[in-house]
Amino acid sequence: MRIDVLTLFPEMFDGVFAASILGKARDKGVVSLNTVNFRDYANNKHNTVDDYPYGGGGGMVLQAEPIFSAVEALQAAENSGVNPPRVILMCPQGETFSQRKAEELSREEHLIFVCGHYEGYDERIREHLVTDELSIGDYVLTGGELPAMVIIDSVVRLLPGALGNETSAVTDSFSTGLLEYPHYTRPVEFRGWRVPDILLSGHHANIAQWRRQQALWRTWQKRPDLLENFPLTEKDKRWLEEQQHKSQSENE
Ligand code: SAM
Repeated sequence: MRIDVLTLFPEMFDGVFAASILGKARDKGVVSLNTVNFRDYANNKHNTVDDYPYGGGGGMVLQAEPIFSAVEALQAAENSGVNPPRVILMCPQGETFSQRKAEELSREEHLIFVCGHYEGYDERIREHLVTDELSIGDYVLTGGELPAMVIIDSVVRLLPGALGNETSAVTDSFSTGLLEYPHYTRPVEFRGWRVPDILLSGHHANIAQWRRQQALWRTWQKRPDLLENFPLTEKDKRWLEEQQHKSQSENE
């Protein structure tokens, strides 16, 4: 996969793209990560990329020209043309990013992220250039760089070969539709708190069943909304009802 990020602050990506899973994935050739300063595409002698909003009001607006030119230069350099790149605008008004969206984007060959700043963008960027608008949540950040990093990290870790054996994306929270089950590691007893016996039993089928039940119970307690669309089996439903009765009578 190839990822390009259009930003006025490319230096913000230096550490993030070089460290941990992203750095390793880049070194292994799983992903190519690049930044483009769209100020280089400004068409005026002062290299400005923003201007006052028509109609007045506070804040500066990013101009269409430099962002269109930077995206078009990347599109022109793309030789296959079979799968045109997804052009993703970082925007608090966009679709809220999710694991499902990360999975969808991980199947693409080329992603171009556009990081905004200041008050906003010229609306023609949104209308005529981008394929997606993504938000990382209902709050406003100074720029699109941190949201782009969040999204890129979650997409790259899903690419084949990005994670080593020590980590697995398959059982992660949300990938399965449930929150993940609890984890324990050595020692067996820490300050008097023991690891559940079942995890020490070596009985793989029982451990798998325990993990599934824990994932169900945890999801029901913390994120019941996720269960609304989850295909619960009859056995799951019965088990959950029993747990709910048990927990109610313990609290009475
Ligand atoms: N005036 C804009 C509004 O009310 O929608 C907010 C602009 S914000 C200060 C500047 C830039 O930061 C945005 O253009 C976007 O690129 C990025 N940004 C801020 N919050 C974001 C969020 N929650 N998700 C994605 N991008 C965000």
